[in-house]
Amino acid sequence: MYNIIDGNQISKVILDELKVKCSDYLKLNKKICMVDILVGDDEASKVYIENKKKKFDYVGIEFKQLCFDSSISEKELISKIEELNNDDTVNAIFVELPLPGTINEKNIIDKIASNKDVDGFSVKNLGALLQGNTGFFPCTAEGVVELLKRSNIDLNGKNCVVLGRSNVVGKPVSILLLNENATVTICHSKTKNLKEICKTADILIVAIGKAKFIDDTYVKDGVIVIDVGIHRFYEQDKKIVCGDVDFDKVANKTSYITPVPGGVGPMTVAMLLKHCIETINNE
Ligand code: NAP
Repeated sequence: MYNIIDGNQISKVILDELKVKCSDYLKLNKKICMVDILVGDDEASKVYIENKKKKFDYVGIEFKQLCFDSSISEKELISKIEELNNDDTVNAIFVELPLPGTINEKNIIDKIASNKDVDGFSVKNLGALLQGNTGFFPCTAEGVVELLKRSNIDLNGKNCVVLGRSNVVGKPVSILLLNENATVTICHSKTKNLKEICKTADILIVAIGKAKFIDDTYVKDGVIVIDVGIHRFYEQDKKIVCGDVDFDKVANKTSYITPVPGGVGPMTVAMLLKHCIETINNE
């Protein structure tokens, strides 16, 4: 019988811990504020931001939204970010991606001061991740490792196979696992003998963006599976939400598995909130 790694429950515990920390800081007159920058008018982003804001309100971190028209120039946006970098009342800066095609995302992210870059994508923070130093690391990747640790899964010496090499998930999660002394194999769309490699995994992290791609023929008995993928679609008018793993086929072969929804998803915002609280240490 497999164990479910319940991301909803684990993230709720984390949010409650952060709420206590935040209230302790407030008692010391240390208020935490994150500025969230949205460029353009994407309705899906607005729904996502509204959900995120509710969690900030719950923990007690101020969430300020700055909205700009999609016609804003890269220079104007950079100047706004520099202003926020120099504003002592702002602890954290988060830029909603993607940005309009006229703006170079890397240029923008790199202008965020590394001690306010709670999303963890600036070159300085990614460098710190590679060097095994402290910094803010990409939230979903950190959320994966946090899920494993809080489920008391020892990573030391474990064979971890990571499917996907994106900058958002695959690469950072691989480095984080390596920093935890796991033996890490990274696979991607050009990897040969994918099934055979997956079957060597004690822990399989799947982040490929392909609905139900991994079935029971990819895993060995007792494997731990973390499914980062998230897909929403309709099948005969029924709304389907699933991951990159075919849960129904795989679960019975696993010792632990994350569901979708309710696995990795809620951990991303939890790690973002954790970073916001940690900005206090950087003051
Ligand atoms: P991505 O940028 O599209 O990267 C996908 C990666 O998977 C690429 O490295 C690609 O290889 C690899 N890949 C694609 N098909 C493959 C195959 N058949 N076999 C092996 N590798 C394959 O996606 P992402 O941003 O990392 O996201 C991955 C999934 O996680 C998506 O479903 C996304 O929605 C989800 N996600 C969830 C959260 C969250 O829960 N909070 C956050 C971020 C992403 P190449 O490099 O060779 O193209």
